[in-house]
Amino acid sequence: MGAPAHHRVFGPARRARRLPTDVPDQDAYARVTTDLATKSAKTRRQTIDQDAAPAQQFADLGLSAVTLRALEHAEYLEPTAIQAGLIPKALAGLDLLGQARTGTGKTAAFAIPILERLDTHHAKAPRALILVPTRELAVQVRGEVVKLAHGRRINCVAVYGGKPIRSQIEKLRRGADVIVGTPGRVLDHMHRRTLDLSHLAVVVLDEADRMLDIGFRPDIERILRQCPSDRQTLLLSATVPPPIERLARRYMRDPETLNFSQQDLSVETIEQFYFTVEHERKYDLLQRLLARENPQQAIVFCRTKRRTESLFRRLSKQLPHVACIHGDMSQGQRDQVMERFRAGKIRCLIATDVVGRGIDVTSISHIINFDTPQFCDDYVHRVGRTGRMGREGVAYTFVAPEEGPELTRIEQRINRQLQRDEISGFRATALIAAAELTTQPAVPSESPVAPAPPPPPFGRRQRRHRRAL
Ligand code: ADP
Ligand code: MG
Repeated sequence: MGAPAHHRVFGPARRARRLPTDVPDQDAYARVTTDLATKSAKTRRQTIDQDAAPAQQFADLGLSAVTLRALEHAEYLEPTAIQAGLIPKALAGLDLLGQARTGTGKTAAFAIPILERLDTHHAKAPRALILVPTRELAVQVRGEVVKLAHGRRINCVAVYGGKPIRSQIEKLRRGADVIVGTPGRVLDHMHRRTLDLSHLAVVVLDEADRMLDIGFRPDIERILRQCPSDRQTLLLSATVPPPIERLARRYMRDPETLNFSQQDLSVETIEQFYFTVEHERKYDLLQRLLARENPQQAIVFCRTKRRTESLFRRLSKQLPHVACIHGDMSQGQRDQVMERFRAGKIRCLIATDVVGRGIDVTSISHIINFDTPQFCDDYVHRVGRTGRMGREGVAYTFVAPEEGPELTRIEQRINRQLQRDEISGFRATALIAAAELTTQPAVPSESPVAPAPPPPPFGRRQRRHRRAL
């Protein structure tokens, strides 16, 4: 992905400083479900599936100390959704079919349980086989396995075509615990009897959809037929078309499907930008951004209840149709806010992460992360509030100078770089910005100079302007 975002933005030397904040809003989680009560059972189920899982830590997944140290060494601070979902079940020995978009950390999701199973170097015969569609991926997946095997004596050998087979044979002869290979080359080694599959405990089909696309199906089946029948099989795929289902049915034991693709998809289709901004200028930036974007409906996320409340008090003095929602409000108050938000009577809702999670309103056009989220998963949850039901959505994240590493983590989590945005004239003082807004009609208009005619209340959203970056 090139240089980490915080290097691009702030230079590598910036030291991370902790935000001076009050306690995050975490107690209100249980009450979110009531916000969902008015929706149809189907929508409710989907929302809960996507949003109900609280952010987990690697330490919660039943991993050994050596793995936790390796993860720390790899600077993986928290599991991705598929890692949190898949690792405990894989550790329990189940056959799993994991579906998630590219870049969601599927490699570690299967590599970690494999490593937990082979704590000692066996040398006799390989214990795990990972089949991948391409040479590049074989090298990449081996790199990830080696990284996560930090602190263990585990040999991982990649076997793939286009390289002299001799050196691979030599490596296999010296003893390999984990094999990563393309199906063709794996078969080749099997025929030469340089690869013994009889001791395999785990077989992984990584990027299974791509392997089938390339035409590896017969090779894969030949390999699977030679593997011990009491093995564990993990299949990872971005999509699960019928041929994959058939493969799973035939060669896996009661596979459980873990589907994380919906959540990722919704974030993938959303335009995502970031602004660099000093803490004390975030409020001015928010005003300018709202004026420029004129959102149909926006949620502004803050990190804590106190920050949510204080932003609400400030903003509601200057703009109409602003409300806030957080865990210190009574359930009655919160239901009322949600009702008004759904009815379009609130245009800008300021929320904490926990409460914001349950919100499923299709007309939300903008997500503004006034504070970066505490956990990367919260970013996905926040941004997933917009672009619902195939609608257009855009998300802006305010990044303070010391929050560069957090931006990088978000980008790693979604495997995509956020685009940098700037507001022209943002150099204007806070006073001018505020004065412009108070002279606006009910809804802030696009241009701060010539006041536009008042747009219809909650009417069509104006075209967004992508100002010069
Ligand atoms: P996928 O197989 O789903 O396409 P990868 O396993 O290749 O995704 O992971 C994408 C990138 O994310 C890799 O660079 C990997 O090192 C990194 N990564 C994976 N898990 C985490 C995590 N928990 N925290 C931070 N980075 C991670
Ligand atoms: Mg992958």
